[in-house]
Amino acid sequence: GSVVADFEVKDMIGKGGFGQVYVASHVSSEKEKVALKYIIKHRQDRYLNIDGHSRPMLAEVAIMLRLMKAPQCPNIIRLHDWIENESDCTLILEYPESCQTLDRYITDTLDMNENKARRLMRQLVQAVRFCVERGVFHGDIHARNILVTTPRLELKLIDFGCAWPVTRMPFYSWKYQGARCYTPPEILRHPKFFPSMANIWAIGIVLYEIMHGRLPFYDRQSIMVGDLHLNPTLSSACQDLISKCLIRNPVRRILLHQVEEHQWFNATSPNAV
Ligand code: ADP
Ligand code: MG
Ligand code: MG
Repeated sequence: GSVVADFEVKDMIGKGGFGQVYVASHVSSEKEKVALKYIIKHRQDRYLNIDGHSRPMLAEVAIMLRLMKAPQCPNIIRLHDWIENESDCTLILEYPESCQTLDRYITDTLDMNENKARRLMRQLVQAVRFCVERGVFHGDIHARNILVTTPRLELKLIDFGCAWPVTRMPFYSWKYQGARCYTPPEILRHPKFFPSMANIWAIGIVLYEIMHGRLPFYDRQSIMVGDLHLNPTLSSACQDLISKCLIRNPVRRILLHQVEEHQWFNATSPNAV
């Protein structure tokens, strides 16, 4: 029997273009829940031969394996195992207790404040930092690819389906495929633009979304030239950080280490509830 038979599949928790995600529990160890991400193989799937594996592997798996090597990052979802055949691949992923996607968490949280946002953003930046150190570009940072546990507010970055190893990026026919509303102007203009600054833009969009309960830009036109409307009751440090992540010229945009060192992360906001 397949390893999938070891799991009792429960609810469907996600549905994407080429597969579904189910929550399941391991039959023998009872309690431990996992998420099963079922991916139907497709001609456009990318395979990577990296890190000394004996054969090319589905890029999503190859990338996650690189991130799973010790020491691990608590803010990146764990890949326990995977099952693959010619037609499909099932990822067996960590399922954090009492988690929801960040977009749901934002909608459900009526008492959002900068302290909560800071807790989440610190962990998101840590996850991105960890990816950078492992030579991984996530390429699809957005609120549905981020899980938040309550009440502890632990953040886990998920979905490495658009990720690439950084050193290989210029040599492949790379095309950024992240969510449209989180895609920076330079990528909309040149889809094969070297996308290293796209993560910072997406981080800025996520912080904006947490603090406003909606996105700053919903279409290409507003991403390219639209005004950024910031809630004036936000602390000036918070407004400053969002604005600097959302600088349209990628050369002038704030760098990851400058995000990490930004004063907003040290502040205890006066208007925090
Ligand atoms: P896709 O590549 O189709 O976007 P994702 O990996 O983003 O697939 O998964 C789709 C959805 O399934 C996510 O937005 C989230 O709601 C849910 N999901 C995915 N992985 C997990 C996980 N490990 N734990 C809990 N929920 C998950
Ligand atoms: Mg996703
Ligand atoms: Mg994906």
